Amino acid sequence: MLEPIPYTDAKLRHILSTVRTIALVGASANWNRPSYFVMKYLQGKGYRVIPVNPGLAGKDLLGERVYASLRDIPEPIDMVEVFRASDAVPPVVDDAIAIGAKVVWMQLGVRHDDAAARAEAAGLDVVMNRCPKIEFGRLGGELSWSGVNSGIIRNRPPQPPTDRARKPRPLPAAVDGGYGFETRAVHAGAAPDAATGARSTPIYQTTAYVFDDVDHAASLFNLHNFGYIYSRLTNPTVAVLEERVASLESGRAAVASASGHAAQFLTFATLLEPGDEFLASRNLYGGSLTQFGLSFKKLGWTCHFVDPLDPENFRRALTPKCKAIFVESLANPGGIIVDLAAIAEVAHAAGLPLIVDNTLATPYLCRPFEWGADIVTHSTTKFLGGHGNAMGGIVVESGKFDWAQGGKFPSMTEPEPAYHGLRFYENFGDFAFTTKARAVALRDYGPSMAPMNAFLTITGIETLPLRMERHCANAQAVAEFLAAHPRVAWVSYAGLENNPYHALARKYLPNGAGAVFTFGVKGGYEAGIRLVESVGLFSHLANIGDTRSLILHPASTTHRQLTDEQRLAAGAGPDVIRLSIGLETAADLIADLDQALVRA
Ligand SMILES: *Cc1c(COP(=O)(O)O)cnc(C)c1O
Repeated sequence: MLEPIPYTDAKLRHILSTVRTIALVGASANWNRPSYFVMKYLQGKGYRVIPVNPGLAGKDLLGERVYASLRDIPEPIDMVEVFRASDAVPPVVDDAIAIGAKVVWMQLGVRHDDAAARAEAAGLDVVMNRCPKIEFGRLGGELSWSGVNSGIIRNRPPQPPTDRARKPRPLPAAVDGGYGFETRAVHAGAAPDAATGARSTPIYQTTAYVFDDVDHAASLFNLHNFGYIYSRLTNPTVAVLEERVASLESGRAAVASASGHAAQFLTFATLLEPGDEFLASRNLYGGSLTQFGLSFKKLGWTCHFVDPLDPENFRRALTPKCKAIFVESLANPGGIIVDLAAIAEVAHAAGLPLIVDNTLATPYLCRPFEWGADIVTHSTTKFLGGHGNAMGGIVVESGKFDWAQGGKFPSMTEPEPAYHGLRFYENFGDFAFTTKARAVALRDYGPSMAPMNAFLTITGIETLPLRMERHCANAQAVAEFLAAHPRVAWVSYAGLENNPYHALARKYLPNGAGAVFTFGVKGGYEAGIRLVESVGLFSHLANIGDTRSLILHPASTTHRQLTDEQRLAAGAGPDVIRLSIGLETAADLIADLDQALVRA
């Protein structure tokens, strides 16, 4: 896969809204080839599409006669769309210039800079390495179906690019110029409702969606068209959440799930075959240690746990069957920060994607894609939702990983038997991973997010920047108080200057070291239990990322199922207390811990 070329939305929109007749060079009669998808989709959008393919010349394809070459077409052509290998492009461009086409558009994966320069010198517009179906769907707001980050912010209901029947409207504002994080936290993915103008995202509490006709239904099931079928796969409320998180992570696309663990399951179900292996940091959320170490084993997937503190440990642990490396950006519960850039380098040198669980940091504090990560997962149950009232998870892809390298990812590149032999990477390019996670793993295993939970999570995200600022300020104040307390043995908060991760925190989490951290209470296991039973404002429960401050003694709760050795390795020894600092008055939190520590 080639690096995407950053065309402006204005240029693509201009092309798609001015051309009417498209010659499609390399048209296929095979319904699951990308050229067939694109031809059928563009016809459905009102374009005249004339197929060109010498092997099919004279035959009929989707109601149009096929021509052997561009020069044989007896009518004027606005745009030539090239579905050929890059080295076959120059003669097609010569023909396009000769027949007076105005645009040459090369499909995803097709690029020829010299031919493009020749076309531009002859006055043609050129687009390379893009799919017109995807760009049309994105600019028209249709692609929200698939959680794609459109880069568009809307204060009016969406209007497709070629819908000229309606009164022209100003173009939606594009993020090409770069909207800020706070703006995207409020707006990305959402638009006023097309039917009612409702400004807050409606809760589409429906399981299914009416088809226009049988042909429309077939094109949706074949993934030829973007649209809603059934809420196990896609739902308009959930789609807003998907695009919003994709935007905040600066990713390409996202797929939401019922919980954070479901997001991890969808990720690995999409990547791995039975017998495959992966590496994971041993400093993970306790539930992830059991998911990876025990339950995944039953599916034939083996996880090797690695001490993440030296990134070279990952290189040493690689095996020929390894398909990914998984870490948490800010590890739960130890407050450990890993060197994302160094671990990404190890992963990429081995041709593997780096998967980062960014739950504790949230994209407000850390954006793993900026450091080389390829996939980000979240438990949206935590800080993204932020109010302790909705379970959820999400998988985001950067769109930059080359799934074709080394033949390691047949599930992305080879025909998918669960989808009539479709090749996902070839058809969906830089959002193939989340499309496959949705169309196969989510479809077949079913851990979908409920629309109500998506609504609560979207609403939570609107205040994410404000909340994270206060979470971090409160956490810093509480950590400083604890560090000076006589009943406290140690405090592990990377915001403290003497913390071993302080330097990494300044690099990877410059806006604050998060709100979840641990400390050691003098007196060990028994004192830990007395402490969690003596608090009067903190809530004793197994969650994090709530507006309310939470306290937990991992050794007697979340990390109970682990062996002593695993507990110590995961930073959950007998004296460890975990806090998730909420949004209350800092002095009240400090006073509560002070009185409880005296009793512990
Ligand atoms: C909570 C959590 C998970 C699991 O998410 P659920 O929504 O509880 O399934 C995964 N990773 C981290 C870091 C978490 O804190």
